[in-house]
Amino acid sequence: MTTPENAGSDYDVVISGASLAGSAAAILLARRGARVALLERRSDPAAYRVLCTHNVHASAYPVLDELGLLPAIERAGAVPNTARWYTRWGWIEPTDVLAGPGLPSGYNLRRSVLDPMIRARAAQTPGVELLLGHQVTGLVREAGRTVGVRASTPQGERELRGRLVVGADGRDSAVAKFAGVPARAYENARFGYLAYYRDLPLPDDMTRAWFLEPDMAYAFPNDDGVTVVAVLPHKKRLPGFRADLEGSFDAFVRALPGAPDIDSAERISKIIGMLDYPLREREPIAPGIAFIGDAALTGDPVWGSGCGWALQSAKWLTEAVAPAVTGRGDLDPALAEYARTHRERMRRQKDRHISFATGRPLNPLERLMFAAAARDESMARHMHRFQTRAIGPLRFLNPVALARAAAVNLRSGGPAVPHVRPRRGAGAASR
Ligand SMILES: Cc1cc2nc3c(=O)[nH]c(=O)nc-3n(C[C@H](O)[C@H](O)[C@H](O)COP(=O)(O)OP(=O)(O)OC[C@H]3O[C@@H](n4cnc5c(N)ncnc54)[C@H](O)[C@@H]3O)c2cc1C
Repeated sequence: MTTPENAGSDYDVVISGASLAGSAAAILLARRGARVALLERRSDPAAYRVLCTHNVHASAYPVLDELGLLPAIERAGAVPNTARWYTRWGWIEPTDVLAGPGLPSGYNLRRSVLDPMIRARAAQTPGVELLLGHQVTGLVREAGRTVGVRASTPQGERELRGRLVVGADGRDSAVAKFAGVPARAYENARFGYLAYYRDLPLPDDMTRAWFLEPDMAYAFPNDDGVTVVAVLPHKKRLPGFRADLEGSFDAFVRALPGAPDIDSAERISKIIGMLDYPLREREPIAPGIAFIGDAALTGDPVWGSGCGWALQSAKWLTEAVAPAVTGRGDLDPALAEYARTHRERMRRQKDRHISFATGRPLNPLERLMFAAAARDESMARHMHRFQTRAIGPLRFLNPVALARAAAVNLRSGGPAVPHVRPRRGAGAASR
């Protein structure tokens, strides 16, 4: 609703952060008639997020489609992110996942390509003003409500007002800090390192994931023939791992069952590390403010969900607030609706992230489903739908699927019987 406070707003929406969440929200809101200021602290339009393994889940496919990015993503050489998962019961290998009905795929596309692409799309969208080199340094508040931001810019300090301020500025959200919205943190028991390779063949050119309980590892084929290899071991290994980073990384990868042949490939990056990455959640709204992407919920990188969540939360926010920010309704109920959607859509996934990030072993339900998926094709396809977030935890664990998993495992001697034991590697990679 237009009030005396916001009647003179420069914009309808002021967004802090022009990465995936912020750029997507800017495009979607502007297309619904909002005047959007999209502020990004970095000045380079080609800036991108470095700490990422670039796996965008299928759950974000409809948003990428709505943004009109799919043709550009495919032209850029994105690799469909169908995956194979190694478990102690052997490999889970869903087949026909690209062709089968209801088996969507997301993409692996390097953030160095995707981030500038979506930001450029935002800049081209009528109604969006992309303001690079604009760092949010404070909030404008009136009567206990946020009505704008202060930003340091190449031309000096500037104040930008809007009906709604959106924190799309990542896990350390500046908007949250200045608004005094705290984050609840949850331990992450794993650390991570990743590196980029050229000429690293993977079977079927498909993503590989290793569940080594508690360690995790991945190989993601990406655009331009580049493969990202990531290892996320338990922190108890960290001191030894860091003592000889290159040697530990290589030994860990070489010891993986069906290891990618890194010795025949060319490593084209440094080994990039993430030593402590607690999960974080915030209330998704505050008076005059909404948080999207990592600013609302930072999950565990082992599930590769954050890019999808960033895009999806931008969409949920747009659907809830677009009429209100363009003067056709009350903002507060619209914000409450967004918060409700975010909580409902994220609750189970968040709980699963928090629980698995403790480094716990697979629980009985997970053992049941993983074992069955390693042993049965239709269970493997079911697993694929879940891992790509095409279905949520409730549908994944529906009674029919559970019964089928139990039957598959009974036929094979029960879920506790491993088909193949994880290979115990030598040196730094041994557990
Ligand atoms: C090791 C690792 C691997 C990962 N791999 C995957 C993966 O494979 N798949 C996946 O889906 N997710 C992955 N993630 C998570 C994913 O990278 C994030 O969830 C995602 O980038 C969140 O997007 P966002 O737009 O919310 O925030 P970010 O991408 O963090 O962007 C925040 C933006 O805000 C800007 N900003 C910050 N402060 C200000 C300010 N004061 N003023 C203006 N601008 C500001 C920043 O410059 C940045 O552009 C991974 C994370 C890690 C740590």
